This record gives sequence, structure tokens and C-alpha cells, in this order.
Amino acid sequence: MGKDGHSRRDFIQTSVRASLFIAIGGLGALGASRATASHTVWQIDPFKCTQCGRCATECVMAESAVKCIHAYDICGYCDLCGGYLKPDANDRATGGENQLCPTAAISRNFIEEPYFEYVIDEALCIGCAKCVKGCTAFGNGSFHLQIRHDRCLDCNECAIARVCPSEAISRISIKKPYLIKGKFEVIPSVEPPKSSSKK
Ligand code: SF4
Ligand code: SF4
Ligand code: SF4
Repeated sequence: MGKDGHSRRDFIQTSVRASLFIAIGGLGALGASRATASHTVWQIDPFKCTQCGRCATECVMAESAVKCIHAYDICGYCDLCGGYLKPDANDRATGGENQLCPTAAISRNFIEEPYFEYVIDEALCIGCAKCVKGCTAFGNGSFHLQIRHDRCLDCNECAIARVCPSEAISRISIKKPYLIKGKFEVIPSVEPPKSSSKK
């Protein structure tokens, strides 16, 4: 049992529920009256993405609409996290110099020995995929990228899809759930943001 009396399983279940709640809250539920079977949205297939880094630089938004998503239900809650620490970090010190994320968007919380929870602050995430690459190479691949529809402008032609070397981005029906690793499903929103475009 953890120090506050909760087991790791309780904690993970709570985390999954929390992440689902946050995702739905951030996206907004899809109004049934506005959804049509033919309406499509841009989505990343996390199983095709090769973490090339273009999601951070090619979006027309000043701040990319692509963010890192964490599938808590497949995370190992590892102490030595390949998505959090640089591979050449010679110990488990968690100082900024040892962290992979260039924007300090990942926080690490102690659960119980030897488990740690990793949380993405989407406001800080630039979608660079560095953590995704590390987690995919050395962990369970629970970090992955996705286009957030509360930010995406739903461009006719997605500028990232045009240059994605893995053809990982395509349009899918609004009726289908987000392509997200793990068990939870999130209904995407058709609501475009009011943010400015850089192009
Ligand atoms: S451009 Fe494609 S391969 Fe590169 S990070 Fe984005 S989805 Fe992944
Ligand atoms: S490493 Fe890149 S993709 Fe991962 S949380 Fe940080 S900014 Fe986002
Ligand atoms: S559709 Fe446009 S706003 Fe959305 S991810 Fe692609 S380039 Fe960015």
C-alpha cells in the first residue's frame, strides 16, 4: 500500500479516469446534432508515428495542435523512465539537465517504491516527440502524440500530414473515437479554437 493508504492499482485506475476526464473536458463533448457521419477530423495513428519531430514544427498554429498523450493503463510507472530521463543520464537524478523534455512539460510524482507517475502538462508540451521516442524505445510506449481538437484548425490539408514521413496522419470520421493507445476512448470535438495561425 502507498503512503496515503491507496494501492498502486487504485492509483492507476484513478489516473486513467482522471486522464479521460481531462481529455474529454479539454475537447468538449461532441454535440450529437452537429456530428455527421461524413464529417472527418485529422488524427495521428500512434502505431505508425516514428517520432520524427515534424509535429512540433510544421503545424500552421504558432503552437502546434499536437500534444503528447499519456496512456496510464499501459505505463510501467518505471523509476528509470525512458520518456523522462535522457538515455545518457548516468544516474536517476531528476534535475533539468537529465530530463528529455525541452520544455519541462513532464512532471514525476512518487507513488510507492519503486513506482512513479508521469504527467504531461499540455500547456507546456510542443509536440516534439522526444519523450515518445524514449518511451517507445525503452518502455511500454505509453507516451504518444495526438492532434488535439480543441486546438486544431481542421485545415483542409494538414500541413503536418503533408510532410509526415510515416503517413501517420489521416482524416477519420468524427464518429470514431480518438486513436489513442490504451483502453480509454475519447470523443473528438469539431469545435475549432480561436488561436492565431502563423501562416
Ligand atoms: S510528422 Fe508523422 S512521424 Fe513525425 S512526429 Fe508527427 S505523426 Fe510522428
Ligand atoms: S518531450 Fe516534447 S512531446 Fe514530450 S512532453 Fe515534452 S514537449 Fe511534449
Ligand atoms: S490540421 Fe492544421 S491546425 Fe490541425 S494539426 Fe494539421 S496543420 Fe495543425
